[in-house]
Amino acid sequence: MTTTWQPLPAAQDEVVGLLADLIKIDTSNWGDSAETVGEIAAADYCAERLREAGWEPEVFTTSSATRAGVYLHIAGTDPAAPALLLHGHLDVVPAMANDWSHPPFSAELEGGFIWGRGAVDMKDMDAMILAVVRGWGFTGIRPRRDVVVLFLPDEEAGSGHGSHWLAANRPEIFRGVSEAVGEVGGFSVTVRDDLRLYPIQTAEKGIRWIRLRATGRAGHGSMLHDDNAVTKLCDAVTRVGNYEWPLRITKTVEAFLDGLGSAYGVEFDPQEPEELLRRLGTLGAVVGATMRNTANPSMINAGYKHNVIPSEAVASIDGRVVPGYEEEFESTIREIVGDRIVVETAVSDIAIEAPFDTATVDLMAAVLRAEDPGARTLPYMMSGGTDAKAFSRFGINCYGFSPLQMPADVDYWRLFHGVDERVSISGLKFGVRVLDRFLRAC
Ligand SMILES: [Zn+2]
Repeated sequence: MTTTWQPLPAAQDEVVGLLADLIKIDTSNWGDSAETVGEIAAADYCAERLREAGWEPEVFTTSSATRAGVYLHIAGTDPAAPALLLHGHLDVVPAMANDWSHPPFSAELEGGFIWGRGAVDMKDMDAMILAVVRGWGFTGIRPRRDVVVLFLPDEEAGSGHGSHWLAANRPEIFRGVSEAVGEVGGFSVTVRDDLRLYPIQTAEKGIRWIRLRATGRAGHGSMLHDDNAVTKLCDAVTRVGNYEWPLRITKTVEAFLDGLGSAYGVEFDPQEPEELLRRLGTLGAVVGATMRNTANPSMINAGYKHNVIPSEAVASIDGRVVPGYEEEFESTIREIVGDRIVVETAVSDIAIEAPFDTATVDLMAAVLRAEDPGARTLPYMMSGGTDAKAFSRFGINCYGFSPLQMPADVDYWRLFHGVDERVSISGLKFGVRVLDRFLRAC
């Protein structure tokens, strides 16, 4: 870590206004492209802010004229170094204004916070990227590595109109990129006044959304009936829902549990990790799902009249797989449901795990400690999916590192997709300093 680092003069002041502007552009992702129309305005906004600082970004559209993002390639000072991808998504999950104490798209500043949808997921990071890259533009500072900046649409609905589209249609963007930095990680979890954990996302579970389909003989509900599709389906669904998946603790999760155990002074027994998780509350609930495959029944469709037995019944199962245990998921499901049920794949995406004993991850820890002497990083696996899945197809190692210092009494995970999403202004400025330091030293 060099001692000559000087913060960019205006970036920390600018970031507040940049985030407020982005929150005010309603980019709610409703799934359907006819309703999801705000991304183009957000993309234009980001591109315009970059142009003001002398950059020449490209606004691209994907599957239709309003599904848009921004691409900027920044040449570093060392042409031999592999490029780093720096990415944020522009869309947000919808918000029901009646539930909120501050209107979700007005970006009110109150109590030291900026309030609004996207404040932590992830317009905060978008604004930090803009502030830092604008700062480089105004001052002539350049990073060592090439930095590929992407602002993306459609992350909140599976990225089919965003990163997956880009990976399939614009692969040249990713040439020479070895690592990527985006969501979800780098935020603080306060243990004590002098100890804050900063989980860095190094792995993601895979997605296996499946349908179970049972068929039988249609008939009248008043008669004896031994081939009932609804009965067969419900039997299978019950077995799937009640199945206890075995613990499958990967390198990432083991390192995370070790780090948690030592931070909280709790013994971590690899055979009995549930005990540690119970004592950790919300954080424990988040990581609990990363220790095994899961398969949760979520929808059942069958029948159309009370006295008619239908010939078909279908259930939806939300399955999530631990990296390396994809095959176990498939074979276990088939075994559980039996051969009278047809198993179909609705949505499938890969699980990923990146190494964390690397210079880049060490640097993340060092820059956090430089700005917060009480910082301690630890790798973790996320149970959901992000744009990282699309990038990892190119062999890119992906990390969730959107640095943010959270007040001790504000729980990051409750704000994520939650009501009254907000970010502290001092925590956001902290993030700008950390991100700038990291990118310049990387
Ligand atoms: Zn997100």
